[in-house]
Amino acid sequence: MPDPSVPAPVLTFEDARRVVEKQAALIQPGESELVDLLASAGRILADQVVADRDIPPFPRSTRDGYAVRSADLAQVPATLDVIGEIKAGEKSDRMFAGIGVGQAVSIMTGAPVPAGADAIVMVEYTSPRGKQVEIGRGVAPGENVVPRGAEARQGGALINRGARLNEATIALAASAGRAQLLVHKRPRVAVLTTGDEIVGLTTVPGPTQIRNSNSYSLATQIREAGGTPVLLPIAPDEPQRLRSWIEEGLKSDLLLMTGGVSMGRYDLVEQVLTEMGAEFFFTGAKIQPGRPVVFGKCGTGNREKPSTYFFGLPGNPVSTMVTFELFARPMLEALGGMSRSKLTFVYAKLKSEIRVKPGLKRFLPALLSGEFEDSLVELVPWQGSGDIAATARANCYIVIPPDRDQISAGEFVALLLR
Ligand code: AMP
Ligand code: MG
Repeated sequence: MPDPSVPAPVLTFEDARRVVEKQAALIQPGESELVDLLASAGRILADQVVADRDIPPFPRSTRDGYAVRSADLAQVPATLDVIGEIKAGEKSDRMFAGIGVGQAVSIMTGAPVPAGADAIVMVEYTSPRGKQVEIGRGVAPGENVVPRGAEARQGGALINRGARLNEATIALAASAGRAQLLVHKRPRVAVLTTGDEIVGLTTVPGPTQIRNSNSYSLATQIREAGGTPVLLPIAPDEPQRLRSWIEEGLKSDLLLMTGGVSMGRYDLVEQVLTEMGAEFFFTGAKIQPGRPVVFGKCGTGNREKPSTYFFGLPGNPVSTMVTFELFARPMLEALGGMSRSKLTFVYAKLKSEIRVKPGLKRFLPALLSGEFEDSLVELVPWQGSGDIAATARANCYIVIPPDRDQISAGEFVALLLR
């Protein structure tokens, strides 16, 4: 049971991530469903895919050329007798029992290498001479041949449970003849936005009202991370009604709230959750944007699903987006059955100097431009963590460690891509 006399901590970014990863590791993913291979992109595999035969199923030539016995080419140039031709898909009754000393077979890329041959000489190094071929270069045993079963053995694992299906794993499943795959059901993620000033898209906002954008950025990120967003109405900054919408949200697999977690007098999310007996793992992280982020677990009163994880994400739109990526995404992925994944950073050269106050790990909207060795990254000028327009112009976040107050142009900086 949580001890309400011990306040939940404000953690460093790294400690907050560790807490999230620890909780994510405790999750048992839920049900699974069969889907057509063509509809499986982005889904999480619930059952291992195994090879139904060796891959390749025969020793495969990787070149157009001549199948030879490499020993016959110890001295070059050499002239060999061409005893036939093998193309890709050659029927086995047309295959050669084997090639003998001084013999070669003309062969195409993807065709089965005949018995006796141990290498392929590329056509570029050969000159046909009637029923013979003159070869100008030697080959090492095994050159340009992929042995049977070298890529995978029959019965061996091709794709592990928990893998997110992409073009490569879908191609592999296709090569194993899998027209359907068992995948995890998408977790349902409730989104509850809070704030008296927030109005829906169909309302004409009053002069000091703000349209709800967070529900839409979150729905996009939830879908992209493999979940199904469940948008709840906008909750007012009033404890009773806020509580009843939180109770509704806890019926989903994960509850994301936005707004109402800062230090203001009407920031009621933490207070209401405390009254509901929630357990808080942290109530802030030393990051910018997103410092007031809250992570915890709350009882649902339902025997089948006694508790639900929740995040209180700060209401500032860029804070909402960043804290989703840093903290909520790993929980959502774990609920969806995905194997643990790490945040991935790339490094790029900074275009112009950055100066910040030290103390927080910062994730600042930035623009990466140029390609390959000419890549450069720079901060997008912004008005702080409410500036969606600047963030929409950005294509990544520059990550600034908490102990730096200055980074010079030309230094390499870590980027979180988006
Ligand atoms: P809060 O975290 O409730 O103090 O909100 C911080 C800032 O984010 C305020 O300027 C809010 O108006 C704004 N904000 C809160 N929720 C939303 C939302 N759903 N869409 C757009 N802006 C929001
Ligand atoms: Mg608010």
